[in-house]
Amino acid sequence: MKKEDLFLGIDIGGTNTVVGLVTGTGEMIGKNTFPTFAGKSIKTFQQNLEKTCLQLVNSRKDHLLGLGIGMPGANSEKGTVFNPVNFVWGDVNLADMIRDQLKLPVFVTNDARASALGEMKFGNAVDLQTFIQITLGTGLGSSFVSRKEIINGNEGIAGEMGHTKIINKNRMCKCGKRGCLETYVSASGVIRTVFELLGSETIDSHMRDLSFNDLSSEAVTSWAEKGDELAQKAYLLTGEILGEKLADFVHIFNPEAIIISGGLAKAGKFLFEPMKHALNENLLPSHKNKTQIRISDPDVNYAVLGAASLVMNNVE
Ligand SMILES: [Zn+2]
Repeated sequence: MKKEDLFLGIDIGGTNTVVGLVTGTGEMIGKNTFPTFAGKSIKTFQQNLEKTCLQLVNSRKDHLLGLGIGMPGANSEKGTVFNPVNFVWGDVNLADMIRDQLKLPVFVTNDARASALGEMKFGNAVDLQTFIQITLGTGLGSSFVSRKEIINGNEGIAGEMGHTKIINKNRMCKCGKRGCLETYVSASGVIRTVFELLGSETIDSHMRDLSFNDLSSEAVTSWAEKGDELAQKAYLLTGEILGEKLADFVHIFNPEAIIISGGLAKAGKFLFEPMKHALNENLLPSHKNKTQIRISDPDVNYAVLGAASLVMNNVE
């Protein structure tokens, strides 16, 4: 790898797609975001992606070695994307499509795995061997890393913590099942919890004047910070559910650390204090205080850096 080599890292989320132009040392020297339009055809996405990449790379095209993509439902071994929840793209070979379109090497992986790769190469997991990476965004992505190897499973689709079930919870998930973790612990899950609380509680709240589609998780965080009790309670319940679930995975996996990233991590103490408490309450004595919680810097997009690192690892 030469000093002037450049890589594109692309993080395709259910709401937005982030494109970063990255150097071999993990410095992001350019970044752009566009709406994914996950409910529209993949052609619309491809046009927006090409336009954004060309704008970013501009006159530096000769130094560009390829693109790495992280997105939900992606299979890194096949380069395919299988019917991701929140998207209408169906079953597509994304790597082939983008390679044909942009005439560059393209590597694809699951979004949570991209974050884990980014954390391992440039972030909070540089010193870790065995950890769980969780991204709290539109949904809940997760990745399990054992002795520096991402656990892919038999078909490259292991690590779907977001669709494990919570006992006695019945919320409908976009995957078609009920009671999945991400229906509670995600940006959209928090908003659903706020509206349930608005119905069941009489606490005064600034959010009573808002409609469901007007509320964002960022706004809930902002109200929690301003002392809105109902917003704080929504995060308390979310944190308790997450902590209880994480105890299951700590028992199974015995990680050194759990790294948490994504927009919802900005809720800070409102989410993480009840989470840590519930985690500790539910751990066996032999597992208590053995697993660190590391909150990722929300201003660094490790999914983009990890996606770009796929190219670094695969081209000369
Ligand atoms: Zn589900």
